[in-house]
Amino acid sequence: MATTKLYLEDIEAAYETKFSAKVTKANEDSVVLDRTLFYPLGGGQNWDEGTLVGPNGAIDVVEVRGREDIIHNLGSEHQLEIGDEIVGEIDWERRYAHMRMHTAQHLVSGIAYELFDGVRTVGNQINLTHSRIDFNPISFDQDMLLELTEKTNEIISLKHEVTDLTMMRNEINSIMPPERTNMDLLPSFIDELRVVKIGDSLDLCPCAGTHISNISEIGEISIIGKKSKGKGTQRITYELSNSEFLRKKKSNII
Ligand SMILES: [Zn+2]
Repeated sequence: MATTKLYLEDIEAAYETKFSAKVTKANEDSVVLDRTLFYPLGGGQNWDEGTLVGPNGAIDVVEVRGREDIIHNLGSEHQLEIGDEIVGEIDWERRYAHMRMHTAQHLVSGIAYELFDGVRTVGNQINLTHSRIDFNPISFDQDMLLELTEKTNEIISLKHEVTDLTMMRNEINSIMPPERTNMDLLPSFIDELRVVKIGDSLDLCPCAGTHISNISEIGEISIIGKKSKGKGTQRITYELSNSEFLRKKKSNII
């Protein structure tokens, strides 16, 4: 049985920080759980860190990977065994920074597509203090970066809600061009997808990451760097100011 991804259940689930689960596999320095709030490395977003508290006390989670089975790497030997009940807690500061950075990436990618002749997002890396997006084909000058920054901050100030829903491929493609959502890069057998929507179809993107529930939580975005990656690809680096609309974690155990 694959691990149930509790952080994916809806947008609000990304604000949950504590959960109970059962160990389903135990290796020397890692465990798999039947359910988890820990986000594994994927989609350009870094993994969650935190702790697992089991029958023999607390142990740190240092790395999380996997798609079906989510592997919680504990960085050292541990005493957890198959069937043990644990309470997991994720590091909220790290998770929330990723949620804000990741949602900002959706927004910047969508706005760049509209502003600059359908430029595509060909890569992204979501980190704690700054994040990166790779665009192609593009040659940004200072005016273009300023325009992208100003337009993004203008839209953030409109405080749109972020929602998630399940949609069929055809439906998504009828609302957004497949080059904007990268739908054309998904294998054709995938027909039903979890989609993250900003406002009333301001942006629509198939995604299995963690996001904030309102774009006002992003704060203000600043583009702090630009670098050529060759073959018409340019990478921009951005950071976020602290938002006055920051939301608190939910700390009940789910
Ligand atoms: Zn996303």
